[in-house]
Amino acid sequence: MKTKAISLISGGLDSVVSTKLIMDQGIEVIGLHFTSVFQNKMKSQRGLMAKKSAEELGIKLIIIEKGMDYIDLIMNPSHGYGKNMNPCIDCRIYMLKKAKEVMLEEGAEFLITGEVLGQRPMSQRKDAINLIEKKSGLKGLILRPLSAKLFPPTIPEQKGQIDRSKLLDIAGRSREVQFAMVQNYNLKEFSLPGGGCLLTDPIFSKKFKDLIKYQSNITMTDIELLTIGRHFRVDEKTKIIVGRDKGENEKLLLLKEGFTSVTPFNFPGPSALIKGDINQWVIKLTANIIGHYSKIKEEKITISIDDVEILECPLKADIFEYLEQIKI
Ligand code: SF4
Repeated sequence: MKTKAISLISGGLDSVVSTKLIMDQGIEVIGLHFTSVFQNKMKSQRGLMAKKSAEELGIKLIIIEKGMDYIDLIMNPSHGYGKNMNPCIDCRIYMLKKAKEVMLEEGAEFLITGEVLGQRPMSQRKDAINLIEKKSGLKGLILRPLSAKLFPPTIPEQKGQIDRSKLLDIAGRSREVQFAMVQNYNLKEFSLPGGGCLLTDPIFSKKFKDLIKYQSNITMTDIELLTIGRHFRVDEKTKIIVGRDKGENEKLLLLKEGFTSVTPFNFPGPSALIKGDINQWVIKLTANIIGHYSKIKEEKITISIDDVEILECPLKADIFEYLEQIKI
């Protein structure tokens, strides 16, 4: 029977070539991909590249969605945040612990990752890699084919299941070797490095910080909404979200459960959602934000509240400065 391993497939260059390198040693590889609300992609697009990569490699792919347990973890990470709200060390420990469960369920003997020593400042330094490996309870069981020769031999290497001489010693941010490898393997289904995680994005991080500062009981919808529209913090309890285009207006209304929706009644303009204390002042402010971004020249507009109440609201001419102050 072939030795089995679980490979963490992001769909990126490094994970694809690492997997192929180990498949070429006669190991049966099962791919494991994590999706999350923090991916810089629409829900329907998440996991697509990993699926294509796995298909091209000819391996089975298991997909796990990072759930509320992940949200709890990133609200209070034991090892802190990176430059933005990215808790990379805790995030890696979380994923590897889940991967260990899959490894045991699938009867696999070790894990494969596309990690490259020194490629990422927070989670791919040697001390961080060692810490992550220890905390995830996988000491000696994580094979990093691209940097393996820069680490002590793993258990599968010691057991002779993996030929160490065929592993690599890449370090740093250059992807020159990996690009040569995909060409050599004739692999086409992989994404280019960088830019996938919203927690590393400063604008998203600002909105996320605001959310966890003012709101307990955060839901997946609250996080999904951070990727849509302009956000305004009115007070500790109240936030207004306004769509920036037709697509965002539609998405906002699809996610309106638990919010008060405010939409233009008889003119084209953005839709808005309000969370928190709903009173006349907040409704009128929302109407003014809608009026401001619809660039309407009237002195008053008519809005619909939750599709049931119609209200006429006067528009203030000088709202821009105030909006700049409350914009998150
Ligand atoms: S960049 Fe995002 S997904 Fe990657 S380890 Fe950091 S927090 Fe996790």
